[in-house]
Amino acid sequence: MFRSLSRQLATKASINTPSKLQDVVIIGGGPAGLSLLAALKSSNKTKHLKCTLVEGASLDPIRNFGVNPPPEYTNRVVSLTPKTIEYMRDKIGNWNFINQERVNFYDTIVAYDSQDNEARIKFDASTIGDSVLAAMCENLNIQSSLLERIEELNLNTMDPEQKSILYDNTKVVEITGPEVAAEHELPYIDPKEGEPDLDWPTVTLSNGESLQARLLVGADGFNSSVRKFSHIASRGWFYNRFGVVATVKLQYEDYRSLAWQRFLTTGPLAILPLTDNNATIVWSSTPELSELLVSVDDAIFPHLVNAAMALEETDLSYIYSLLKKNPSDMNAVEEIKWRMSRVDSSLVDEGYPLPLESVVPRSRARFPLKMAHADTYTAPRVALIGDAAHSIHPLAGQGLNMGQSDVASLVSALEDGVTRGLDIGSTLVLEQYTANAWPSNHVMLGICDKMHKIFSTDWPPIVFFRGFGIKSLNMLGSFKDVIVRALSGR
Ligand SMILES: Cc1cc2nc3c(=O)[nH]c(=O)nc-3n(C[C@H](O)[C@H](O)[C@H](O)COP(=O)(O)OP(=O)(O)OC[C@H]3O[C@@H](n4cnc5c(N)ncnc54)[C@H](O)[C@@H]3O)c2cc1C
Repeated sequence: MFRSLSRQLATKASINTPSKLQDVVIIGGGPAGLSLLAALKSSNKTKHLKCTLVEGASLDPIRNFGVNPPPEYTNRVVSLTPKTIEYMRDKIGNWNFINQERVNFYDTIVAYDSQDNEARIKFDASTIGDSVLAAMCENLNIQSSLLERIEELNLNTMDPEQKSILYDNTKVVEITGPEVAAEHELPYIDPKEGEPDLDWPTVTLSNGESLQARLLVGADGFNSSVRKFSHIASRGWFYNRFGVVATVKLQYEDYRSLAWQRFLTTGPLAILPLTDNNATIVWSSTPELSELLVSVDDAIFPHLVNAAMALEETDLSYIYSLLKKNPSDMNAVEEIKWRMSRVDSSLVDEGYPLPLESVVPRSRARFPLKMAHADTYTAPRVALIGDAAHSIHPLAGQGLNMGQSDVASLVSALEDGVTRGLDIGSTLVLEQYTANAWPSNHVMLGICDKMHKIFSTDWPPIVFFRGFGIKSLNMLGSFKDVIVRALSGR
């Protein structure tokens, strides 16, 4: 009853206050939404479109990063593929605004199995004639560069109608359209002469304004309100795992540009290199373990990561049990040191990452991990991009990169539509986007999901076959090259 009333009120409000007409309204100022806005305004074919972006949170932390970045690395860091970097450099034009001192390229990743130390695989970009596998970059660095690019494009645009409009601290209160009215049995309101066509979705904002969009884009993350409005189903599951992230310091700077990932049965632990002796970690773990990882003392946490990269899982379980009783128990550190002293010394230099020295205070946080994929990315006058369309396990570092591919495919479809003189909100234009973006995302989602499942077990037959698979794969150069190409987005 209340929902239905609030919808009617919202509908009336949008009739009384004239809606602002826009060609593209983007909901969400995360990496995907900002990239789409900057890409549309950078393209000669689409730069004339009237575009507005609405972000619920404040953009100040992003702006501040550009002016005065914090001395330590922030904890949301992603690995960008060479394909994403090329797109940012050549099409969006934000790469010039990236703070390059806080980007770290790496060429190799070593992955190994906690159940079988011999089961190791090395992916090296040089095998496909490349010098870069990926680059580590803070989310804030990416978003800040995109904002700067949008501001630059606005400054270079003479026609005020063509300047991008950005609202932050502004929530979407309501999205209405004919489908919503039909579903809730509200009367369909005929458009009065001279008034906008009501076939365009209307977005009511918390600042009292309403926008009517030829094309409404959901870049509003996993809980996308645009996806819900358009009744696009999304399928998937929570993994009952959390990704614990932290900024850490290695004992000294690594002369190699190497990333490490160890597959534990509780989930993979990755140490990814940043500049100097900095690194970022992503430790996928059970709800109980992740709680422990964010609550143990700063003095204990680095030892725990060192242990998890090298010790047997039975040793780890014992250490966790000590810390569960007392997260400040320094005896756990003594236990770790003693057990680490028994690790095969032939592996210490080359087989494991450099040990951690410390964790940056207050840099630990945890995020629930899930897999979700929308059945389609488009509906009439609606498109979904980024996490609004798909959420993926972070074990292969692909989520944000997939969002960039979405942006590239959607912009290309809109460019074609504009060139052919078509309505950019029409299914004819938008279906090209789903056709190009959905299948490859589906394959990547499936691969990461299966990897999570295959490595989450210590059941001996599976351990045997995956160990056999990893060792064989490590020797099959040409097949490994296919994976290196996929990891770097080639
Ligand atoms: C632990 C972890 C590690 C990861 N590592 C990597 C990696 O190495 N490489 C990689 O490529 N990806 C990685 N990812 C994934 C990556 O972080 C996400 O895919 C990416 O941030 C999604 O960007 P987005 O813009 O689509 O969505 P989001 O970042 O979720 O942005 C959505 C935006 O929409 C806004 N919003 C939501 N609802 C509304 C509303 N109603 N009104 C207005 N605004 C709204 C939100 O405030 C937010 O700013 C990782 C993820 C995790 C959890």
